[in-house]
Amino acid sequence: MTAPTPEPAAPEHDLVVTERRGAIALITMNRPRYRNAQNAAMTFALDAAFGAAAADDGVGVIVLRGAGDHFSAGHDIGTPGRDIHKDFGRVATQYWPHEDKAGAEAMFVREAELYLGMCRRWRELPKPTIAMVQGACIAGGLMLAWACDLIVASDDAVFADPVLRMGIPGVEYFAHPFVMNPRLAKEFLFLGDKLPAARAAEIGMINRVVSRARLEDEVVAIATRIAAMPRFALALAKKAINQAEDRMGLRDTMDAAYALHHLAHAHNALTSPDHLAGQDAKSMKDGMK
Ligand code: ZN
Repeated sequence: MTAPTPEPAAPEHDLVVTERRGAIALITMNRPRYRNAQNAAMTFALDAAFGAAAADDGVGVIVLRGAGDHFSAGHDIGTPGRDIHKDFGRVATQYWPHEDKAGAEAMFVREAELYLGMCRRWRELPKPTIAMVQGACIAGGLMLAWACDLIVASDDAVFADPVLRMGIPGVEYFAHPFVMNPRLAKEFLFLGDKLPAARAAEIGMINRVVSRARLEDEVVAIATRIAAMPRFALALAKKAINQAEDRMGLRDTMDAAYALHHLAHAHNALTSPDHLAGQDAKSMKDGMK
């Protein structure tokens, strides 16, 4: 059983917008009214935008940002544009359509494609990526930022993975013990509290913190400097670090955690109204510190 999906209020357009500024591609998530909550339509549009930027020889660096006051409130768990039962085709993994499947299969297949598969693919793009984060960067939003190479945040940014309150051990892209030390990762997950940008920088989870007014200029300045470096060497340096993380166990950790994540979804479906333990956007927001 899954939660009812509200009817779309009105068709949404331009869910993702790409702007070229010299050798920089600025990819903007564009659902500011819903704090850039990621429905599947937006996630596939993001994948297309990343793919186009990677394939464009004129692009040296890719910046990911969110329109409005927030980077992303996470996966869409309640906007009128929620499209959890819709199939958009499969491009990141080898699974089959999810929308007509029963039991644990539907969510396992859907999230392998849309969440873990996409984020892994974006992490492995051959060009440097920078997440430009302001305001809320929560759960599914955190995955997007973590999949980028650098993270630059404004001083009002907060990071959180509060999904334990849904009975889930962490978001699908389980990088927690790699982007912070394991003890901090446990606190981050157990409490689900918001980690302020200054603290996130202090523990090395993000690169820099600047004022909101300076955020775009700072990101563009860094991106411009990186874009002037030799393209192939950048790709090799990125690959070398990503390979190191994978040899330290990142990829295996994520595969193992993904299985636990779906044990939790299945457990929720057996014991509560839906695979999210009956939580919705409002209850999750109200419960956050
Ligand atoms: Zn999930």
